[in-house]
Amino acid sequence: MKSRKPVIGVDLDGVCADFYGRMREIAAEWFERPLDSLTSDVSYGLGEWGISPGGYDSLHRFALHQRELFETMPMIPGARRYLRMLSDEGYHIRIITHRLFIHYSHASAVSQTVAWLDRHGIPYWDLCFMKEKSAVGADIYIEDNPANVEQLRNSGHTTICFANSTNRHVAPPRADSWAEVYRLITCRDDLLTDTHPSVT
Ligand SMILES: [Mg+2]
Repeated sequence: MKSRKPVIGVDLDGVCADFYGRMREIAAEWFERPLDSLTSDVSYGLGEWGISPGGYDSLHRFALHQRELFETMPMIPGARRYLRMLSDEGYHIRIITHRLFIHYSHASAVSQTVAWLDRHGIPYWDLCFMKEKSAVGADIYIEDNPANVEQLRNSGHTTICFANSTNRHVAPPRADSWAEVYRLITCRDDLLTDTHPSVT
């Protein structure tokens, strides 16, 4: 059987795009507070900024529709360079993101996402808007959301945790840069010991 390179399932927010950095700027506008008053040392859910569990949706809609959140986030350094290197070496880049979590905003979310990916020169073959990331299928996932990392690993999927302030408690394998992601994928045999299914 012809061997193939693994499919890499790549998350966007907090992995390729600096979601927390850009959202911090927009939240400062939303709350009319100085930027410095909002810590960058956040946990998942952004409770440090005073956002209640049910209070995020309004901020998100403002960010998406009035500040073009998904089109204006800075790229996390290295994402373009190392994803291009992996793609050129034959790895199959599959973007998997859960950005459609608020109803009736999907056109904006999708169009901003596609424009951002092209503008930043991110190479990819597939773009999946999915909550259940394990349902998409990938051989190696790159993910920053602690709950997603746990769920993927618990279901047997090799998952690199892309480090940020929301996931300090998550166990290795971890990467605090794209250079480290690349090294883990290309140099670490123990990441690739699983038997990969045939391409269908
Ligand atoms: Mg993420």
